[in-house]
This record gives sequence, structure tokens and C-alpha cells, in this order.
Amino acid sequence: MPELRQNFFTKEWVIIATERAKRPEELATRRPAQTAPAFVESCPFCPGNESKTPSEVMRFPSNAGEPWTVRVIPNKFAALSSAAQPTRSLQDVWRRIEGFGVHEVIIDSPDHSCCMALLPDAQVASILRVYRERYNLLSMDRRVNHVTIFKNHGADAGASLQHPHSQLIATPVIPSQVRHRLHEALLYYDDEGKCMYCHMVEREVEEQTRIVLKSEHFVAMEVFASATPFATHIVPLRHMASFGDISPAEIADPAHVLRSLLAKIHVGLENPDLNFTIRSSPSDYAGARHFHWYVSVIPRLTRVAGFELGSGMFINTVLPEAAAEFLRNINAEKATGAGASGS
Ligand SMILES: [Zn+2]
Ligand SMILES: [Zn+2]
Repeated sequence: MPELRQNFFTKEWVIIATERAKRPEELATRRPAQTAPAFVESCPFCPGNESKTPSEVMRFPSNAGEPWTVRVIPNKFAALSSAAQPTRSLQDVWRRIEGFGVHEVIIDSPDHSCCMALLPDAQVASILRVYRERYNLLSMDRRVNHVTIFKNHGADAGASLQHPHSQLIATPVIPSQVRHRLHEALLYYDDEGKCMYCHMVEREVEEQTRIVLKSEHFVAMEVFASATPFATHIVPLRHMASFGDISPAEIADPAHVLRSLLAKIHVGLENPDLNFTIRSSPSDYAGARHFHWYVSVIPRLTRVAGFELGSGMFINTVLPEAAAEFLRNINAEKATGAGASGS
């Protein structure tokens, strides 16, 4: 029988259509593995082509004598402009804000060919440290109300350049998806006196069936009311409202969990296009007791159709418990050799 499940955090319903359920492996892309060269002469993100991008805002390591391993540049085709002022206006029913914002590109690695799933853990940790530094710096700007960090991997996920990169957009407003989650989390906190995310993680770890992998401080798990197949959350076990609250020393742990999860998806589902985003409280909520940051990883295995657009309700054909079991059983370390120290 099909089943409706409610998302604990948003109260949205999804249909888990077990009648038409697919075995997880049926969703593998069956795409022939492509190997890209490590360097492409015409690629603006490859080392040696730094002059082809807007002036960088940050590089890691920072000393000029050393070659960079992670680099941050303004997006050449920015969705918002840091030169604008977030001036609000309301004319009758039409509300507007001037297009202020910051849109940056984080170049994940000098290597053109190596997606995050295949990078060493240490390199993923460097990327997360760069995310954190930009997140905290931009959050201090009083014009910024929210910073979204995300990755588009593959053309169907919105990536226009093959060289592995992530992006960050700082906006003068709190996006409605975040605002909705904050609102629900506050209601729960008021009723129960605890963070709903802490509570859910505790129960999921006890329940086990949706856990993909767990480290000392983080857990990766399939979402109970997952709107799409293999939607996975990576959640800190200790309460932290903002991604900016994590200390640089703590970052190696989530870097390992994120990279291991991406490697399992890469191997098990044959390198599907995917997005991930860091969902964090807005900067002014750092330290809040009711919200809890996490990483949401969404492989792009299915297309949104009319019912989803019309109702906002999704039909998921893969049981989250089956997806978790499938990913648990993938030995990606053996298949990719990723995660090891040397690059
Ligand atoms: Zn490149
Ligand atoms: Zn919490």
C-alpha cells in the first residue's frame, strides 16, 4: 500500500508510492563513466588562468608563495549585486528590494577532473573551512540576512562549468524555506522545550533504519518523509544553530562524513547529478536553542512533474529505509580509493 508521510520539520506531506516502488539500484544513471583531464587550457577555474576570473576574494592557503588549493571569486554572472543597497519599497501591493546581495564561487580544487566525492578528506575539510570563513564574514554585514552555501554537480543540477566548484549567495532576506523551518522549530521549542532536530536525531540513531553512516560528531541519514529518492541529511549530533558555530578544529569530522556519503552516491548510483546545500539559521540566530544546522544532499534522479508543481506534494518511489540500506552496503572507499590522505 502507498503511504503518506509527514515531514517533521515542515509539516509537508509526501506520498511514498510503494506500489510503484523502485529498487534503489534501478535509479543508477547507467551513464558511461567519463574521465575529464586534470587541466583544461580554456577553463577559467584551472590554475594558471586566474586572470580570466574576477579578482579573487580569498585563497587557501593564504600565503602568496604557495599554490592555492581552494579559491573564492565573485561570480562573473552574479544573481545579485554587492554595489546595490537593500532599500525596500512598497507601492500599493508591490513590494520590492533593490537587488543587493553577494554571489561568490568557491573553486573546490585546482584539479579539473576531480569531483568532491573523489577528493581526499583533507581537501574537503579545506573547502568546508573556506565555506565557514566566508559564511562568518558575510554574516557580519548588516545588510545580509541569510547566506546560502550550495553545490550544483552536473548539468541537470544546474552546473554550467565542469570544473568542481560550489557557490554562496548572501541575500538581504531570509528565504521562505528557511523562514518556514525556523517558524516550525520555534513552535516545537515552545511546546516541548527542546530542539526538534536534536530530538529527531536522537530517535533516528536509536531506530537505525534510515542511518547511512555515523561518525563521532555527525550522522548521515535518509529523510523519513523524503520528497525525492536518496534525499540525505548530514546533521551534527551536538546542538548548533548556525554552520558558523562549528570550530575550525571540528571540521575534519563532517568533511569525512560528507565526502564518504558523496562517494557512496557516486559509486552506488553511478555519478548522478546532485545538489547539496547547507541549511543554517540566519546569522542573527547564531546560538539559538530552537534551530539546528544540517547539510541537505539531493541527488537529481527524478523530474518534478505536474502533480508536484500543482500541489507542492511529492511522490517518492524509493523507500527511504531501502535507500539507507543500499547506501550502507556500498563500499565506496574500495571502489574509488577516495578519502585517503594524499591527492
Ligand atoms: Zn578547470
Ligand atoms: Zn538541536
